[in-house]
Amino acid sequence: MPGMTMTEKILAKHAGRSHVDPGENIWVDVDVLMTHDVCGPGTIGIFYEKFGKNAKVWDPMKVVVIPDHYIFTADEKCHRNVQILRDFVREQGLKYYYDPEFVKNEPGMPNPYKDPTKTNYKGVCHKALPEEGHVRPGEIMLGTDSHTCTAGAFGMFASGVGNTDAAFTLGTGKTWLKVPPTMKFMFHGQIPPYLTAKDLILAVIGEIGVDGATYRSMYFAGDGVSSLTLEDRMTLTNMAIEAGGKNGVCDVDEKTLKYVRARSNVPTWDVVKDDAGAKYIYEHEWDLATMEPMVAKPHSPDNKDTARNCSDVKVDRAYIGSCTGGKITDMIMAASILKGNKVKVRTFVVPGSTEVHADMKKLNLRGVEKGPNEKSIEDILVDAGCLVGPSGCAACLGGPADTFGRLQSTETCISTTNRNFPGRMGSKSAAVYLASPLTVAASALTGHVTDPREFVSEPIETGMAGVM
Ligand code: SF4
Repeated sequence: MPGMTMTEKILAKHAGRSHVDPGENIWVDVDVLMTHDVCGPGTIGIFYEKFGKNAKVWDPMKVVVIPDHYIFTADEKCHRNVQILRDFVREQGLKYYYDPEFVKNEPGMPNPYKDPTKTNYKGVCHKALPEEGHVRPGEIMLGTDSHTCTAGAFGMFASGVGNTDAAFTLGTGKTWLKVPPTMKFMFHGQIPPYLTAKDLILAVIGEIGVDGATYRSMYFAGDGVSSLTLEDRMTLTNMAIEAGGKNGVCDVDEKTLKYVRARSNVPTWDVVKDDAGAKYIYEHEWDLATMEPMVAKPHSPDNKDTARNCSDVKVDRAYIGSCTGGKITDMIMAASILKGNKVKVRTFVVPGSTEVHADMKKLNLRGVEKGPNEKSIEDILVDAGCLVGPSGCAACLGGPADTFGRLQSTETCISTTNRNFPGRMGSKSAAVYLASPLTVAASALTGHVTDPREFVSEPIETGMAGVM
């Protein structure tokens, strides 16, 4: 029998089989189903319509509800969506719900949390899921959000699904999947100080195109991936969907195990590896030493170029945030460049989670707890002239007109987010360049797309930030 990939092995186990082949349709048991304020209400509606008004979810311990998208807005429809989630969580007795308690049943913009350590609200679902212990190697997670694939960084099968599929899983705990073939992306060497995982994934998507991995598993491997922080690996898997991938996945190592052991709310899980004889439908290799800081030019994540080649592009604003580029290590990278300097363009910073926001206040630039006379990461960003908003999806997907950082007109933005289709960040006439936090910070200082090698030569330490 031929060897299997990690994805095939996880799917086989959850189908009660010893072996599966790519292309087979199988039923699998789902370990975790996540939903949020945008797709949750629709999913809940379908669930009650199809399973009956008194229906109960298959397992109240395996459903996670995380409002994160349209939180800091006066839009009443958005507040109503949060209320629908609250009602559902109460009716179903769900344990894992992260309430933005400051969103009240009253008109106007909610007051953001004052202290990120003293709120039930967690911020962006894909960042909050591992933080809150819902992510484990060898498991299957589905979510009503295309970037659910982020959790594959932890050696699990994680994939976004539509509301109908999610409603079916809510009622049964199962889903029907076609086993995807696996593409292997191998990175050799150690990550240089001027590169991040964002440069790697923009190179991958630029190579294969936005449909290059449609319904395929994207496996990121090699010592280059091992050299990344766990958070940076999340950037790789997060953007698998930008190439059409069904899921993205990384090997499990000590970094993964340390994080999951410290956080998981389930004590045991399986570490799964590709078999020696596993078959790949496509393989490509990169040497990190020869790679350059990348951007995706408007209006597609596969419109790749080097930051260096785009140095004549003036930018009007910069944005550092989202599940892709709003992690604490992203903030440390950006702050390392911005420290002691002043931004030339309006620069919006949105922590990916309230934990990230708390760490921004607590940690210094080396990712360790700051001393009494030391500046925090947030202090450094504010001193540089950045506008720091509350955690959430914010302008990553535009949102209502009053959303923090939303693009409103014909302007050029350089952003750590994951999509740059027309209108994605709010304005159809805006142009968005996707880049790493290093490149975005460097560009914020100069006012044009800037290769971060102009500012970074030494490795940036992140300590245990984003891990413990
Ligand atoms: S931060 Fe952006 S990409 Fe991530 S979940 Fe929110 S809207 Fe989607």
